[in-house]
Amino acid sequence: MIKSHLTKKPPNSLRNIKTDSLALDILKTLEQHRFQAFLVGGCVRDALVNLSPKDFDIATDATPEQIRKIFKASRIIGKRFKLVHVFQRQKIIEVSTFRSSKVSVEDEDQEILKDPQGKIVRDNSWGSIEEDCQRRDFTVNALYFNPINNLLFDPHHGVEHAKDKILVSIGNPLRRFEEDPVRSLRAIRFATKLGFKIDKEVKEAIYQKGHLLNSVSTARMFDEFNKLFLQGKAKDNYLKLDEFGLSKFLISSKTGEHQSFQREMIMRSLENTDERVKNNQSVTAGFLIAAMLWPKLAKLSSDNEEINLKKFYRNMDFCIGHQMALTAVPRRFYGYIKDIWTLQIKLQSRLGKQPLKLVAHPRFRAAFDLLLLREQCIPKNDGLTEWWFKFQNCSRAQKAQMLEKLYEKRKGTNYKKFGFSEEIR
Ligand code: ATP
Ligand code: MG
Repeated sequence: MIKSHLTKKPPNSLRNIKTDSLALDILKTLEQHRFQAFLVGGCVRDALVNLSPKDFDIATDATPEQIRKIFKASRIIGKRFKLVHVFQRQKIIEVSTFRSSKVSVEDEDQEILKDPQGKIVRDNSWGSIEEDCQRRDFTVNALYFNPINNLLFDPHHGVEHAKDKILVSIGNPLRRFEEDPVRSLRAIRFATKLGFKIDKEVKEAIYQKGHLLNSVSTARMFDEFNKLFLQGKAKDNYLKLDEFGLSKFLISSKTGEHQSFQREMIMRSLENTDERVKNNQSVTAGFLIAAMLWPKLAKLSSDNEEINLKKFYRNMDFCIGHQMALTAVPRRFYGYIKDIWTLQIKLQSRLGKQPLKLVAHPRFRAAFDLLLLREQCIPKNDGLTEWWFKFQNCSRAQKAQMLEKLYEKRKGTNYKKFGFSEEIR
């Protein structure tokens, strides 16, 4: 059956694919052992549309145990999806065995297990390439390509759909999104990444089944958060998620009132993240979460247009807790987020000689970046970022002068005002 969908005439973009050398070695070795082996998924899709693939995954009819035996430097990983990591120095290539989606009802130890909503919780039943293909989410993700002999397996017309720039589901998307609700997020992500339209049926399924995202583990949601927002298309993804009403499953920012500052902060922080990705600067989920949740924290902590510090410190845990109910927030980010929030207060108050210490704080840069974002979102700001900019870039003597001036200016006034009042109004 495989022959009927195999073509030896792949598009030029695939013929020119620059396959990673380790992936190429693995393909060759598997074939020498008389197994079928193909590049599959994202790498074939990306090469097809002339993007450079970010990793090379391989699919084969060898079982994990057989793969493990062939490659000395390899390890079987995963429970829900058992697969093999083959490595060489820092490099890792994922090699997975063709799977089927057959569910045997009588079998107590069935390899595919679904929960009462139809969601797959275990999936380790091996199958043929056709069956493997059937299980994949979208037609452009179901392309199998062997760059050694230029064989392409494309039974769902992925190449044609890529040409038409349309994201099409394999099988009925309503059922497919019930099996795995994360597929709605993937649809949005691939559509923005590839510049594709989303097929009508898929759109409908996102509307109807998007709410099932609340049953997905927070760890998986955090993975998706990173893929959606830290890969250069954060703003486009957010806007599309919002169109489908799905942003609420990823970020717990909504406070109900106070919409414009919040929306502005979200947009600016996403744009800023995209800009940083473009410039090869580092980006972290921690900073993005801190920025997107800041308006909520400020609003919840306000008292008479001022920030109430007691409330502020209490609400930090509360806000992170809310976010953790949606996406996991790894431990290393917890302290980081709280630090840069706390620093917002200190950047504002600039008490005594504290500013001298603050510039040396390990989180000062991140905190200052957040301050910059905040100030960009407030039409009338009080020049705080300018003050800090100057302070960072002047001599010690000038620093002392700036602090002295600040002290004089404040005499007799209530300087314990934290934050731009427009943020908490
Ligand atoms: P990228 O790595 O660029 O995000 P990708 O397509 O490689 O995109 P992966 O998550 O690495 O995405 O998955 C590799 C392949 O596995 C996909 O192309 C798809 O064929 C299949 N796949 C992954 N996740 C799912 C899923 N939730 N449902 C169905 N198939 C999936
Ligand atoms: Mg991938």
